Amino acid sequence: MDNYDGKFPYLPERISRLGELACNLWWSWHPEARALFYLLAGNGSRYKAQNPVKLLFEINGQVLDDATRNPRFLRRYDAVMTRFDSEMNAYQSWFNSKIENRGRLPVAYFSAEFGLHQSLPFYAGGLGFLAGDYLKECSDLGVPVVGVGFMYPDGYLHQRLSADGWQKSESESLDRERAPICRVLDAEGRPMILKITIMQLPVYFEVWKAQIGRVPLYLIDTDLEANDPQSRSISSRLYIGDHEHRLVQEIILGIGGTQILKALGIKHFVLHLNEGHSSFAILERIREMVENGKSFAEAVGFVRKTIIFTTHTPVPAGHDIFSLSMMDKYFASYISLLGISREEFYRLGEDPSAGSAGFNMTVFALRLSAHCNAVSKRHGEVARRMWQHLWQPLAEHEVPIDYITNGVHVPTWIDSRMALLFNRYLGPNWLADHDDPSIWELVDDIPDEKLWMVHRHQKMNLIAVLQERARQRWLEHADPNVILASGTMLDPNALTLGFARRFASYKRANLILENLTRLKAILGCANMPVQIIFAGKAHPSDDAGIRLIQQVYNVARDPDFGGRVAFIEDYNEGLAQYLIHGVDVWLNNPQPPFEASGTSGMKAGINGVPHLSVLDGWWIEGYNGANGWAFDGNDCESGERDAQELYSIIERQIVPLYYDQNESGISPGWIKIMKASIKSTAARFSSRRMVKEYADKFYQDALFQASET
Ligand SMILES: *Cc1c(COP(=O)(O)O)cnc(C)c1O
Repeated sequence: MDNYDGKFPYLPERISRLGELACNLWWSWHPEARALFYLLAGNGSRYKAQNPVKLLFEINGQVLDDATRNPRFLRRYDAVMTRFDSEMNAYQSWFNSKIENRGRLPVAYFSAEFGLHQSLPFYAGGLGFLAGDYLKECSDLGVPVVGVGFMYPDGYLHQRLSADGWQKSESESLDRERAPICRVLDAEGRPMILKITIMQLPVYFEVWKAQIGRVPLYLIDTDLEANDPQSRSISSRLYIGDHEHRLVQEIILGIGGTQILKALGIKHFVLHLNEGHSSFAILERIREMVENGKSFAEAVGFVRKTIIFTTHTPVPAGHDIFSLSMMDKYFASYISLLGISREEFYRLGEDPSAGSAGFNMTVFALRLSAHCNAVSKRHGEVARRMWQHLWQPLAEHEVPIDYITNGVHVPTWIDSRMALLFNRYLGPNWLADHDDPSIWELVDDIPDEKLWMVHRHQKMNLIAVLQERARQRWLEHADPNVILASGTMLDPNALTLGFARRFASYKRANLILENLTRLKAILGCANMPVQIIFAGKAHPSDDAGIRLIQQVYNVARDPDFGGRVAFIEDYNEGLAQYLIHGVDVWLNNPQPPFEASGTSGMKAGINGVPHLSVLDGWWIEGYNGANGWAFDGNDCESGERDAQELYSIIERQIVPLYYDQNESGISPGWIKIMKASIKSTAARFSSRRMVKEYADKFYQDALFQASET
């Protein structure tokens, strides 16, 4: 049990467990727990409660004392703690009742990023949110998982635009003591510090932990005084630096992460790799077995059966490939511990279709994992075609890469008012059984006006939040153009499209800007106006992505567009929550087949915000003709034809339907699409369905194999 005494300056006895609650991200998907902290933060300062640990540090002791004398607060506190205890301690869980796990072994889940909450900047985008949603769902279902990842105290990037729309990154370091994480202590009660000796100089790292309900996530932090400055910065940020920095990060994640498990006394486990960044974890397990007397072949034979590898990247260029000379620098002596030759080792990571030699992290993981999967049906096809040559002479359909389509954590992404509506019309058990599609048929019973009222409230809320952000930026003396372009003129009555994701070129944020004259006509229509809200970060060294942001910004500040295009700075989890709930249509138009799955459209869909997307990733499975709009989007040359299709759908289908409003200002046809969207996404694209599939398809078998040592 973690000890929270003394972490906070002052916590009255009667409500002292608030400290424990604040340090467990369980609050992030339980609105009643968040409400406790909102109550303490007081009206008008909800943002302070976004990080309850910080709140408890900075709150006036008098407020806490008052709370102990407020019966209403105490009733809520007691109810939340009762629920917390019952969910944390429940032996009864889906996992225990369905999956045989004789050895009571855990699944170790490695990922280079985790998107859990805005207070923890350990993510860049979709890969991270998949991992974060996965951990939360494992907690809900009682899957015995331990997560392993990086701390990244400097996060990904803190985005600001200059007056001419160029993305700048402001530094903002995580205050470790005031974040919902804690130090892991060793047997003697000292901070756990481990050492990796693969580099020329040993690298030390400290182990921290974020508690996600029942699931611990261990975080590697190399920012220690014992390290030289270069090593200190190894884990400072995501995806920065050159190839070598990246290799060193991946060595620390895979090999260092495995050392954490060992230090915690976890000897036998199933290994699940979320993308190839952590593939060296496989190597470290093999090395341990060889050290204990097995031959390399025996060790591989055993370890392989206990590994699940999830690939996310549908193009050959997207995978980490390290030059052999760089690999030599770090692995020369390590290889000798494996009992194989240098050539044999490098052959494991060699992609025979590549022009030059190199160590491919994906190829290595594919070869050494008994269970491999892609993240959507289409991505499965793409991955099998892409990697068929590794399994020659198998036919494409025989290539052992399965698929499990991604899903989103419904309690995290559902709007709390929408949840209240579901309580009323779907019955009180809808959340407990939300991966059962039949429950969602009851969405048809929700009166149109009620659903519209909730959505409209979210839209007004979104606009209010954007205006408050603009006001804060104005106080910081930001350029007036940046302020004007950030949604200050948005109209709650106008049809609103949302586009928010990383600004990577393949996601084509500028597709809708292809023909500005046509776009202007769509947006500016006097009785049926349309507006678009953009948000997203570009990778700091991706100039093409940064130029895309500038292109959007230039339209947003152009008076001819009448303030109907907005670019919101610094897209993160907090902003995503408002956008996903508050816009009317979620736009997604990547270049197929680059979107392996995509998840933001699912988050929108479960909230009744229909998806307008190219047929790629999850939307091929999700689109049913009645729950949104789809277009082919496969014009590889110029995108011109795709843009035409996009405009036509907006002009001919979306705008007329949205504005086909009755005397109460509601469009019955629109509500029908909203309802179809909820019904078709909530069960099928939930992380609950996804985690159950991982458990049934892979974990059951791998756990059995892992217990056979
Ligand atoms: C869900 C989410 C993503 C991933 O969205 P995609 O549709 O997969 O691009 C990225 N960033 C944030 C903040 C998210 O919530």
